[in-house]
Amino acid sequence: VPALSIRDLRKTYDNGVQALKGVSLEVAEGDFFALLGPNGAGKSTMIGIVSSLVNPTSGTVEVFGTDITARRGAAMRQIGLVPQEINFNTFEKPLDILVNYAGFYGVSRREAASRAEAELRRAHLWEKAGVSSRTLSGGMKRRLMIARAMMTRPRLLILDEPTAGVDIEIRRDMWRTLRQINADGTTIILTTHYLEEAEYLCRNLAIINHGEIVASGPMKSLLARL
Ligand code: ADP
Ligand code: ADP
Repeated sequence: VPALSIRDLRKTYDNGVQALKGVSLEVAEGDFFALLGPNGAGKSTMIGIVSSLVNPTSGTVEVFGTDITARRGAAMRQIGLVPQEINFNTFEKPLDILVNYAGFYGVSRREAASRAEAELRRAHLWEKAGVSSRTLSGGMKRRLMIARAMMTRPRLLILDEPTAGVDIEIRRDMWRTLRQINADGTTIILTTHYLEEAEYLCRNLAIINHGEIVASGPMKSLLARL
């Protein structure tokens, strides 16, 4: 089954704006997929629907074959979300942030500690496990957000404009961590308005504009057509 399957998804907001006008797409398990489009194209709306934060007007969304409206809890357990804004308590230590987050999702303390070490190592933050996270650089803080999302062992990691407004050094840092996570087997979907980001990271992409998919397929074949 695909990691994500979207069929004829429509969203009209209360103010009458048609943010999505019948979007269909499929993301295979293991893929690193970009949804590329300018501001206002409908990217956040789509990610919001997939992560159950926004109700669709019509259409279906399945995560690993589970319908997100019929079985919301089961679908959400497969998903990890990385928020755009840094929203952990910067007075806590990275290790505690990860362990407490997993605890909130019912992971035992012992299991959480072992996952936290693995995630901090993967994000190149292990040596910072015990410092106050207030002292972390911008790039480290972003990588910590990614590591935290992986603590529940999601099969699908979703990021909405993860690198919006961050400088190129930090972006490259985050890219490395995301590539590693994908190489280790997690499907990743991100939205971006940077073509170079999609080009560097993703195997497949869809280009969205005015609420419609205008092109989709492997990165290489789309680049050849641009
Ligand atoms: P993107 O993430 O690609 O910038 P969005 O999904 O945020 O696009 O927005 C798509 C369209 O829907 C835009 O015209 C935007 O103004 C509108 N929109 C987004 N959120 C809301 C909302 N909560 N209420 C009304 N209109 C919205
Ligand atoms: P920052 O740039 O946020 O201060 P660090 O101090 O952790 O990051 O970087 C230390 C070294 O590790 C640098 O040489 C950097 O290029 C490298 N590095 C940073 N992030 C990663 C990553 N995700 N994967 C591999 N190496 C990384």
